[in-house]
Amino acid sequence: MGTQSHSYRRSQEDKLSPEELERYDRQLRLLGFGIESQLKLKRARVLVVGVGGLGSAAALYLASAGVGLLRIIDDGYVELSNLNRQILYDTGDIGKRKVDVAAKRLRELNPEIEVEALGEKLTEENVREMLSNADLAVDCLDNFRTRFILNDACVELEKPLIHGAIYGAEGRLMTIIPGMGPCLRCLIPHEPTEHDKIPVLGPLPGIVGALEALEAIKVITGLGEPAIGKLIVIDGMDLSFHTIEIKRNPNCPACRKIK
Ligand SMILES: [Zn+2]
Repeated sequence: MGTQSHSYRRSQEDKLSPEELERYDRQLRLLGFGIESQLKLKRARVLVVGVGGLGSAAALYLASAGVGLLRIIDDGYVELSNLNRQILYDTGDIGKRKVDVAAKRLRELNPEIEVEALGEKLTEENVREMLSNADLAVDCLDNFRTRFILNDACVELEKPLIHGAIYGAEGRLMTIIPGMGPCLRCLIPHEPTEHDKIPVLGPLPGIVGALEALEAIKVITGLGEPAIGKLIVIDGMDLSFHTIEIKRNPNCPACRKIK
């Protein structure tokens, strides 16, 4: 993906090629979607932080939907124990850097889009640069320390953040639009205890990651009602979806300064 393909994509941002019209045909047929929504996706730049279980599903669906630029971040390498849930990877990928395998797979899935692979850990030092020129971030992380760094930077730069998390057979999701609803620190005031190797039933991060992609598509296109101020809790064991209303904390250390 050199400069040439970059400028080619930029020059074609105001229209869809015959191949793109066919590729996205089934979503273009969706009521209220149409060419304008597809062009919004094509112009969008989305940061996917973590390409594990959540990030595999989120990135695959965002790529297949035609998000113009996907910037994927992960400093991990593929391990055998990842493969019960991280559907971007095959057994033959064990030992390879995740972002390299993921980027190749996503480009093969959709050559119309650009994929930037950053094999780093997101930190307080690099988060702003990673978010620069991104329209939206998707939290596909596995720890709250890094989630709070991402949340605080998104709040500061006023960029939407889709939060997703899983533990065992439970999944959680909330869409954060700074100023419009609560942020992650309003939801979780204190950093929870971290678990080194959390138990996970593979389909759960798939479900939550797919929902994160859906929320991102809704925020980018303006369609539907994103889960702003709503924590969606999915119990995989009885297959129930609960919606818990979350209010902004007026004393939130991250978002209290936003109007
Ligand atoms: Zn807040």
